[in-house]
Formats: sequence, C-alpha cells, structure tokens
Amino acid sequence: MRRVDSRQVGTTVDGRRDVPLRIRNSGRCEQPVRRRTVADMRQTAFDLADADGVMVIDIDRFQDINLACGRTAGDRLLAGVAERIAAVAGPDGWCRTGDDEFMVVCRRCRGDLAARLEAIRLALGEPYELGGSTICAAVSIGASLRRSGEACDADRLIHEASVALKHAKRMGGNRWHIYEPGMPCARKEQLELVYELRQAIRLNQLELYYQPRLDLATGKVICLEVLVRWNHPTRGLVMPREFIPVAEESGLILELGEWVLRRACEQKRAWSELGILPVRISVNVSPLQFRDAGFADRVLGILRETGMQPGLLELEITETSVMEDVDRALEMITALNMNGCTISIDDFGIGHSSLQRLKLLPVKCLKIDRSFVRNMAKDQHDLAITNAIIHLGRSLNLQVVAEGVEDVGQLELLRKASCTTIQGFLLSPPLKAGEIERLVREEKLVC
Ligand code: C2E
Ligand code: CA
Ligand code: CA
Repeated sequence: MRRVDSRQVGTTVDGRRDVPLRIRNSGRCEQPVRRRTVADMRQTAFDLADADGVMVIDIDRFQDINLACGRTAGDRLLAGVAERIAAVAGPDGWCRTGDDEFMVVCRRCRGDLAARLEAIRLALGEPYELGGSTICAAVSIGASLRRSGEACDADRLIHEASVALKHAKRMGGNRWHIYEPGMPCARKEQLELVYELRQAIRLNQLELYYQPRLDLATGKVICLEVLVRWNHPTRGLVMPREFIPVAEESGLILELGEWVLRRACEQKRAWSELGILPVRISVNVSPLQFRDAGFADRVLGILRETGMQPGLLELEITETSVMEDVDRALEMITALNMNGCTISIDDFGIGHSSLQRLKLLPVKCLKIDRSFVRNMAKDQHDLAITNAIIHLGRSLNLQVVAEGVEDVGQLELLRKASCTTIQGFLLSPPLKAGEIERLVREEKLVC
C-alpha cells in the first residue's frame, strides 16, 4: 500500500488539502468521487485486504467555524486537520471522504484501538495556529473492526464506522465510539425509500396540490402555495413529511425541487392561457436548494423554458435557511428580485432571525409558523409572538401570512391583531389542480 504522508498532501487551488478518495469494495480506490472543491484530488491506491478496521473522523460544528471565522480560515483548519491525521495515521492510509470528514485505515490495531482513538481525538483537539489566528476545533470519531476470521468487506467497515460516528455526534460530539451491533443506524427502509422516490420522479408519481392564501381585506385569493404529494402505487397518497426529510438527507431534494418548480410553472402557464386563476403561485425551496450557488440561475432558466412570467412566482425560503448566511441570502434574493420573482420567509418565528439583518433583505412576505397560530387561543406566549410578528411585518412593510388557520376563533384573534392574509383549512385544504379549477368555475373561489 502506498503511504500518504504530509508532504504528499499538496495544497489544491482552493487551498484545501489534496487527499485520496473513497475506498471501494474491491479494496482499491476507484474513480475519484468528484466533489465541488476537490476536483484536483490525487488518486491514491489503498489496499484494504489486510486492514483490521477503519475510523471515520468528522470535525464538530465545522459549518459554524466557517460562518464565524470565514471560509479561508475553514480551509486552513481542514488543511491543519489533514496534516495531523497524516502524522497520526502512521503507516496506515488515510483520506478525505467528505467536506470535513476523513477516514483512516487501521492495521494491527485490535488490542489498542481505544487508546489510538483517544490519542487522535486529543491530537486533533489541540488549538490550530493558522495564518496568525488560533482556531479551536473538536472532532468526533467512529470506528469499526473486521470480525476476526472474516475477509475484509470495505463497504461494511465504512458503513459501520459511519454509524458509530453518528452515534458519537448524537452523544454531543468530541468523543469516539467503536461500532457495536445494534447501534441505531439509517434503516434499510430509508435507503429503499430514496430509491423509490427517485423512480417516482421519473414515473410521474408526484402530484402538486395548491392551497389558497386569502387577503382578509378584499376577501380574495391572492396566491396559491404549491405542495407536493406522492401517489405511491401500493401505499396510496404519501404526505411530504414522510419523504421530504429523506429527500433532503439524500440530496434528492435538488432533483425533486426542480421537478416541482418546473411542473408548477407549467401549470401556472396553462391557467394563464385559460385566463383563470390570475394569482401568484408560491413554491417551497429546501435549504439545500437555496445553498446551491447556481440556484437563482436555475430558477430563471425554468421560468424561461416554461414561459411563465417571473412576477407570478413567489419562492418560500425558510427563516433558518436565510439566516444561515445572510450575506449570501441577500445576494441570491436580490438576483431573483431583479428578475421579478418575489421571496417570502417561511416558518417565521422558529428560527433565530437577526432583526437588524431581516430589514436588509428584500423579501415580500413573512409566513408565521403554524405552531404559533395553532396555540394562540390557549397560550398567551404564542398569542404575544403572533402579534409581535404581525407588527414587525407591518412596520417593515411586509405582507404577513398566518398559516394553519383552522377555526373562527383563531381568525378573530388574527383580525384583531390586524393580520391581513391567512392560509389554512378554515379556508381550504391543499387541492389538486382540477379541484381548484372546479372551485373557480363554481365561483366558490374569488381571485
Ligand atoms: P409548509 O411549507 O409549512 O406548508 C404548509 C403545510 O401546512 C402543508 O403541509 C399544509 O397542508 C399544512 N396546512 C395548511 N393549512 C393547515 C391547517 O389549517 N392545519 C394544519 N394542521 N395544517 C395545515 P404539507 O402539504 O403536508 O407539507 C408539509 C411541509 O412539507 C411543508 O410545510 C413544506 O415544508 C414541505 N413541502 C411540501 N411541498 C414541498 C415542496 O415542493 N418542496 C419542499 N422543499 N418542501 C415541501
Ligand atoms: Ca411553505
Ligand atoms: Ca410554513
């Protein structure tokens, strides 16, 4: 096996360290798995045949460090961690397997694995003197051992080490765990769900539903929120809470999100051609989509392809997603605004908004999280928060939507608080396109 030492770890164009890539079942490192910033990675052959086990090392709260200290510092930290891992890995191989994740191959470590893990945790937890500043970071480590007498199965070892890593993270980080059978792990059904969902997009099993948003002053519907459902061949109608989190975890949400946006724009265009439903549509954007630097271009591309007017599209971005990186959000929202799309902040009130920064964002609307509206009649605090959001929105000249309005009591409280727009089962549940069209024909929906 080729040894990787710190001199072999060259700095790439983006300042990150050059590291070999994933080990496959064959025991050899195959085609590099291309990641955004590691295109330059050198391919290094690993021979796992005589490995006793692997460790997967992940920097705790790396994203926070990036946000607090800047990406350059984050890159330097990665380089520093890589250097220390190269030093402690000794004659064993190591590689970087993810943005802030590394793997170390262990040999002849059966007796002293725990001691080695602790030594690595301590070594990587020492402060980093990088470019004139000191950065402290902790790591979590998951490890797995080959069952004695069994041939090496690289996939299984890596999977088990990742399960142990998750366990270490769940316990608060800055610790290590060695895999034990029975440790909770991503269930097989979840993997199957991802596969099925990918197929569902291709087989057109997803369907869009539309829920109206009402302007209380005029009594007219001013927007339709697009909500996706899955017509599963055996399980029937599957709701988003059952598959959106899985889609987000697996990255499939990018494909799904694009499908939803394209389909919604096509539907809106069809309604425009029929001369009905002359209102905006609002489409939910997952944090993963919003984090993608090419997101605005992709949206504008879909608008062009489907011939939909940008002014009729609103994008719902969650508060947490916007506040993750306000400067980037400002750039993205400005680019979309300049082309005519409007932005609303979804699930407002549960994230940690900086009001100072909120006022800088060119958004059109705040959507009060359903949880406050649900309890406002019973819980004084929720009522106070709902009132505060409504007043905040008004003073910033934003539309404020109360979501999840289910009964007249809630509606009255909202009217009293001068809320102008509502959405919820009281008015209508999300409906299929055909059902919304029927309501318009029967003049039960006023736009
Ligand atoms: P959300 O964006 O907060 O959407 C509103 C959710 O509240 C919808 O649930 C809607 O059916 C539900 N709702 C509306 N009025 C009421 C009410 O009066 N009472 C109650 N209890 N619920 C009400 P749904 O359709 O199950 O969607 C759940 C979540 O899934 C959405 O929450 C959104 O975060 C996500 N989602 C749905 N479609 C998409 C999509 O196309 N893309 C992305 N990224 N996320 C989506
Ligand atoms: Ca929404
Ligand atoms: Ca919401």
